[in-house]
Amino acid sequence: MNYRIERLAIIGVGLIGGSLARALRAQGSVGEIVGYGRTLENLSEAVRLGVIDGAENSASAAVRGSDMVVVAVPIGSMGQVLEEIRDALSPTAVVTDVGSVKAPVVTDARAALGTRFRDFVPGHPIAGTERSGVTASFAELFARRRVILTPNPDTDLAAVAQVRAMWTAAGADVKTMTAAEHDHVLAASSHLPHALAYALVDMFVRLDEHRAIFDCAGGGFRDFTRIAASDPTMWRDIFLANRVELLALLGQYQDDLRGLAEAIERGDSQWLWDTCARAQRAREQLGAVDESGGD
Ligand code: NAD
Repeated sequence: MNYRIERLAIIGVGLIGGSLARALRAQGSVGEIVGYGRTLENLSEAVRLGVIDGAENSASAAVRGSDMVVVAVPIGSMGQVLEEIRDALSPTAVVTDVGSVKAPVVTDARAALGTRFRDFVPGHPIAGTERSGVTASFAELFARRRVILTPNPDTDLAAVAQVRAMWTAAGADVKTMTAAEHDHVLAASSHLPHALAYALVDMFVRLDEHRAIFDCAGGGFRDFTRIAASDPTMWRDIFLANRVELLALLGQYQDDLRGLAEAIERGDSQWLWDTCARAQRAREQLGAVDESGGD
């Protein structure tokens, strides 16, 4: 593939930003990669690992002269970062993000970027793990994974094409949809399961017998709760950013749990079997899910 970025700026060189840098480097699709982040320790590690060529001491210094800028920080920090870089962007630079909720990021980006908003392409790779930081990054993270872009009607089409080409070079399968559609679907496929996993593990931790429970934890508990090991800052930001969609689903789930409890209470074996069988069929149709697949 001929796609090439001359100078790539990664703001937030963690699991996602670091993995994208590694993937593009592995494909020979990038010249220089510069990074900026919150902690010197993580940035030094990123340089030591060869994920970035150099670190800058501000986000604006990192984007200066870059043709592609990827903002890979927690959602709650997107607006502040975009505002900081706006005046340092080169006239032809394209900016994208990787945030897991799109509508609030688009709102923040519109407010922060002014006339440069048309060069901003909102994006979200549906790939990840429960680990964070540059040490957890790897070049194959996005291989055959979906990346969703949610451009606005006023987004520059050439910018969308460049971001699409970047993710394709990283091995991903790129789709576009509206930010609202994205947030509606991801609330169910990702945000609700994470909320449930955190709530379940936290409930157990507060029980007196939690040590005995964790000692006896089998595959089911581990499968269901693996994602509760994910970064709390990232997930707090996601739950708050997608609160309307998430609250609607949490309400529905609470109703369904109440229905389940009532069926158990009245000994309704047919209801229980039907419910489990329906879910089993649906889960089988989903096929084998790669355990490293994240959100
Ligand atoms: P991470 O913690 O591994 O990396 C985030 C990096 O951003 C860290 O190095 C951190 O120091 C840095 N950072 C935080 N605040 C900053 C700021 N204000 N300025 C500059 N740097 C800052 O997290 P991650 O998993 O790579 O997630 C980053 C983004 O990717 C989030 O918006 C998240 O919603 C999104 N995302 C995560 C996953 C996943 O499964 N982990 C999947 C898809 C998208």
